[in-house]
Amino acid sequence: MKKNVIVTGVTGQDGSYMVEHLLANTDYNILGGVRRLSVPNYKNIQHIKDKRFKLIDLDLSDVHSIHEAITKYKPSYFINFAAQSFVGASWSFPQQTFDVNATAVLHILECLRKHAPDCRLYNAGSSEEFGNIKYVPQDEKHPSEPRNPYAVSKCSARQFIKIYRESFNLFAIQCWLFNHESPRRGIEFVTRKITNGVAKIHLAYKNKKKPEPITLGNLNAQRDWTDARDCVRLIWDILNLRSPNEYVIGSGSSYTIKDFINPSFECIGIKGKWRGEGVNEEYVYKGDVLIKISPEFYRPDAINSWQDIRTADITKAKKDLNWNLESGLKELAHSMVENDISLLQNLD
Ligand code: NAP
Repeated sequence: MKKNVIVTGVTGQDGSYMVEHLLANTDYNILGGVRRLSVPNYKNIQHIKDKRFKLIDLDLSDVHSIHEAITKYKPSYFINFAAQSFVGASWSFPQQTFDVNATAVLHILECLRKHAPDCRLYNAGSSEEFGNIKYVPQDEKHPSEPRNPYAVSKCSARQFIKIYRESFNLFAIQCWLFNHESPRRGIEFVTRKITNGVAKIHLAYKNKKKPEPITLGNLNAQRDWTDARDCVRLIWDILNLRSPNEYVIGSGSSYTIKDFINPSFECIGIKGKWRGEGVNEEYVYKGDVLIKISPEFYRPDAINSWQDIRTADITKAKKDLNWNLESGLKELAHSMVENDISLLQNLD
């Protein structure tokens, strides 16, 4: 009998790449958990036509559906990517964020303990859990001082995972993933907002129209960006280690938002100039303002200081894992811009 792998969040970025990775690298049955939406959102998985991949009903806000999926399929792996994944929205929906990102993880653990105790569970953790940055770069021992409801929910899930692993000997882990991007990144995230805006600017120039500027928040934040495709490969390797172990995963470098903006514009042949400071800073090209700043897009927890520097210390992961990141920041930005241009062209 082939093993069953339940992957949640398959309509999103990481889940859809994980399904592709598992189909290419295993002979397991992949059960993709989806919740009911009035208008289904399958654009990231509609190209996958493999009879080993099947969609199942699995809404993390419904304990019965978690129970049904686990008791029916008795998975050998449960890879939980589903989440309210947008930090900004966690301020608008703090309770829903906690229910889906933390309480649901408790239900998954309880259900696995009772009905599939040999299952290996991966839950998606985040560098957001570190919150107040104490030192740069951040390793697995960095303290957790969450600064937003999203981060609190991920820290809580981590504690549940830890006590179930220690008390019931479950193979249950949660790594700290730093920001990872791809052409499938949700449109509200800053990288995708930039590449989508750059694609629109490209088409405006092509059609001899005035381009709309992209409006952003704090440009000083520093993030460690990797390619989501590299991350899912590492997660699968970690899930298959001899014993459970948790890792900080990122590129090991930190970049400013400008470091992502510059190659995005270069991809469409634009090399503009930065002028002004703070909220008056803007990116200008041949007299057109292509980027402007609005405090409306500053997160309530944004820290305007050197301390908002997120960089992964990947020493432990490099030592234990087959570590070769295939994509750098420039290739990543270019792949996202090119994808956004073709998506917009197909809309016309
Ligand atoms: P994403 O693209 O936003 O995908 C989130 C997925 O969760 C979607 O498939 C969504 O389904 C699903 N979902 C939300 N609520 C659900 C519910 N109640 N029941 C079932 N499914 C539900 O996120 P991602 O970027 O792939 O991230 C994957 C995971 O890694 C998340 O847990 C995220 O918090 C974590 N993470 C991501 C990053 C990053 O940089 N990408 C960094 C650190 C941690 P719908 O299509 O139905 O909305």
